[in-house]
Amino acid sequence: MTSSNNLHHLSASEAGRLLTAGEISAIELTEAVLSRIEAVEPQVRGLVTVTAEQARQAAQEADKRIREGNATPLTGVPLVLKDNMCTAGISTTCSSRMLEGFVPPYTATAAQKLLDAGAVLVGKSNMDEFAMGSSTENSAFFPTHNPWDSGRVPGGSSGGSAATVAAGETLIALGSDTGGSIRQPASFCGVVGIKPTYGTVSRYGLIAFASSLDQIGPLASNVTDAALTLNAISGYDAMDSTSINRESPDYSRALVPDVRGMKIGVVKEMFGEGVEPQVRDTVLEAARVLEQAGAIVDWEVSLSLTEYALPVYYILAPSEASSNLARYDGVKYGYSWDGAADMWEGMERTRQHGFGPEVKRRILLGAYALSSGYYDAYYRKAQQVRTLIRREYEDAFTRFDVLLTPTSPTLPFGLGERTNDPLAMYLADICTIPVNIAGVPAISLPCGFVDGLPVGLQLIGPSLGEETIIRAAYTYEQATDWHGMRPELG
Ligand code: GLN
Repeated sequence: MTSSNNLHHLSASEAGRLLTAGEISAIELTEAVLSRIEAVEPQVRGLVTVTAEQARQAAQEADKRIREGNATPLTGVPLVLKDNMCTAGISTTCSSRMLEGFVPPYTATAAQKLLDAGAVLVGKSNMDEFAMGSSTENSAFFPTHNPWDSGRVPGGSSGGSAATVAAGETLIALGSDTGGSIRQPASFCGVVGIKPTYGTVSRYGLIAFASSLDQIGPLASNVTDAALTLNAISGYDAMDSTSINRESPDYSRALVPDVRGMKIGVVKEMFGEGVEPQVRDTVLEAARVLEQAGAIVDWEVSLSLTEYALPVYYILAPSEASSNLARYDGVKYGYSWDGAADMWEGMERTRQHGFGPEVKRRILLGAYALSSGYYDAYYRKAQQVRTLIRREYEDAFTRFDVLLTPTSPTLPFGLGERTNDPLAMYLADICTIPVNIAGVPAISLPCGFVDGLPVGLQLIGPSLGEETIIRAAYTYEQATDWHGMRPELG
């Protein structure tokens, strides 16, 4: 029997079993998680909105559904959504002043699918403004703290989603990943995060940052829960023209502890300069665990274009952002500066006060790269290099089933440590950005601790190779104990 004071640390799959067996109710679980939020949120600050009333109501419906025998594996399971996913009737801010007070009239497809499955929304999570950042310090409201060390960042931009899962403020969460924003915070907070193949999860209702790279994915405390969540959110959506029209696989079938004969390539460029030695050693040790389990490991695979991924990303992502963010004009959504003499002044002042410094920096970078005279030198060139990077990954996957790297080159850094150095901040994503450029899937999972801080292992798969990386991750998880670790809080 599970005592009600630690229900918040159940995994979603354990909770599902207890719920369907009638050993706990969704109401009990929801109340346990809401009390946990109350207890630890002053320290973590991972949520911009707590939806306690809606959660209680949804929990009642979940209990009814369970009694009637209509439950899915996620019915009654507490959920947090990153605050860039639209939720009908619930404020959606992107952690920006620009969207303060914005209440969407509709719900993002991925979020709706989880609500339809019976998950219980307990809150919307803090993030870097418009998902631009790697530390959640670019939130216009407040920074989120790493649950393992409150003097450090939780990573970003889905820092609130990762921190709340780690802290037991929810059992599962959704994040979005344009250049690492699910995987890097998963790594920093010691949880599991998946960036699916581009087109696997609908982007309808996800507030756009860089549309050709953005992808929604799960954060959870273990691989099983991440796979169950991915099952619920993936699939074709006619409302997103880039969503892939195919039958979604059942990812839980990939939860098999067997990597015998699996070919794994260790990417040497991602263990070199800038990677902290303790991170490198911890991740290489994880590769040895997979080798012992029967994988065939090549320790020296070269992806020679790795160094170009970051410059390509910082041309393409800001270019797309400068176009996507042109819609914030003070007329259609959210914040609007009062007292302007005319429309132009109104638009200028709205943007001046509505956007934070990093968002402005990206809009400027993008507008410059796209402007006439520079387009060929920057934007077109970056697209060409993107194609080369994509081909290099395709080629590597003719030889390997999985590529293995650290998720982040460093341990979680201190709050404030990189806020005045955008380049140092951008370097946090050096191992994750190439994956978005190539459009392929990757998972981050905990693979050890250094000085009490979690280290993440990244496993990259070929396009639509989610099942392969889930199997490899599950095998690693079964062979180790890291996913059972919880931070001490409160
Ligand atoms: N940290 C990267 C950036 O600032 C990636 C962000 C993301 O994946 N949303 O753009």
